[in-house]
Parts: sequence; C-alpha cells; structure tokens
Amino acid sequence: MGVFNFAGVKVADAPPSAIPKCPKCEKDLDEIWVKSKGTGFVKKEQILMCPYCRIFLGFGSFSL
Ligand SMILES: [Zn+2]
Repeated sequence: MGVFNFAGVKVADAPPSAIPKCPKCEKDLDEIWVKSKGTGFVKKEQILMCPYCRIFLGFGSFSL
C-alpha cells in the first residue's frame, strides 16, 4: 500500500507526455525551479517554484 489511499480511485503512472500544470498561473510546467536552502550537503531543504509566477509548489529532494 502506498501513502495515498483514495477509496475507489485507481492510481496509475502518468504517461511520459503528461506535463504538470501550475495551480496558480495554469501554465504547463515543462520546467520547475528548485531553490536549495541550508548548507550541509547531507540534509538540504529544497523549495520547488513555478518559473512563471514563482508560486511555491512544494518541497523536493532532488540531487542535481
Ligand atoms: Zn505559476
């Protein structure tokens, strides 16, 4: 079982062509800005931003 548990909803992998949309400016996010915070290279907080309207999208953990 995954983290998400929507009763009666089938969870499927998004097709490779699916592009997320910004919830604010509704532009297709073919690119997302990642802003790193903090110094230590073990634990780094990353903030995901829309490059068009700079709305905060969430936290991420990418190794760039
Ligand atoms: Zn946006």
